[in-house]
Amino acid sequence: MYDAICSQCGVATQVPFSPRADKPVYCQDCYKTVAGRRTRT
Ligand SMILES: [Zn+2]
Repeated sequence: MYDAICSQCGVATQVPFSPRADKPVYCQDCYKTVAGRRTRT
């Protein structure tokens, strides 16, 4: 796991992949929200 900062709420979180500058990183809560929004389109 890698330490990362959530791009949505700014909380410290951990992700199973290496954080990349060109990709936003989300904590578990925000990931659900963002993923839910995306599939809703
Ligand atoms: Zn978050």
